Amino acid sequence: MNMDDIFSQFGDIFGGAFGGGFGGFGGQSSRGGRRVNRGTNLRVKVKLNLEEIVNGVKKKIKVNKYVNCKDCAGSGAEKGSGFSTCHSCHGSGQVTRITNTILGQMQTSSTCPACGGEGQTISNKCDSCRGDGIVKGEEVIEINIPAGVMDGIQLSVSGKGNAGPRGGINGDLIVLIEEIEDDNLKRDGINLLYDLYINFADAVLGSTEEVPTVGGKAKIKIEPGTQGGQVLRLRGKGLPDLNGYGKGDLLVNVNIWTPKSVSKEEKDIIMKFKESSNFRPSPGKKDKGWFERMRDHFRQS
Ligand SMILES: [Zn+2]
Ligand SMILES: [Zn+2]
Repeated sequence: MNMDDIFSQFGDIFGGAFGGGFGGFGGQSSRGGRRVNRGTNLRVKVKLNLEEIVNGVKKKIKVNKYVNCKDCAGSGAEKGSGFSTCHSCHGSGQVTRITNTILGQMQTSSTCPACGGEGQTISNKCDSCRGDGIVKGEEVIEINIPAGVMDGIQLSVSGKGNAGPRGGINGDLIVLIEEIEDDNLKRDGINLLYDLYINFADAVLGSTEEVPTVGGKAKIKIEPGTQGGQVLRLRGKGLPDLNGYGKGDLLVNVNIWTPKSVSKEEKDIIMKFKESSNFRPSPGKKDKGWFERMRDHFRQS
């Protein structure tokens, strides 16, 4: 388990701690239309390598966030001073106005401007938080990241965002997943792709090759007469499906390495083979060319 220091990866995460909380997520409580403050959501970015994605991982991260003020236990009121019921709305959080119109009297309700809909006002504000009930702080949060996540996906950890002002409820922690690209294995959905380069002699005579897998290695058999571009499939060596629908495969694309320069001696040997009938290209039905393989690929996907 590692401590990723992800302070301020999203810039000023304190920005607008009161903003969205009141509008988008705030809403009204069931108690007589009084407003309940909700803390804003926090956003953090977590970088994961392929092994962490395949196996799932627990991450401990330290975040800057609004926490409840200790001096007033989050209430915003100085110790002993308490709250008084709002005089304007008598605690309901709503004010009602009656207006005379040509159609008769009309009653309109709106949020009480005196208390902001909270139904109460603080007699003496807490010095430490200036009556907000929340202060800037930090918290170490453990996040369980399931296996099979992908770049750009967002996970929500309920109640781990900013604390809500004056005894409100916490916002959520939104975790944005960022994938660290692997040096060897490329991801294609739940499958992994690997480009294997083999020696020309091994392609002709057959061999055993080692390929990297997630967190290890696997041996694969190269049959004599293997063509370049042949794809070998290692079943179940890919990524788990995030929704639990099985596992992907590791697809090994076989490339045959052509020497870029040869010695005089090597050249002489190769020239001897050049006219041999075995060296004349004669693709059979089983030897699929590039176009045919691409067609198969698109049919599968
Ligand atoms: Zn306080
Ligand atoms: Zn009021």
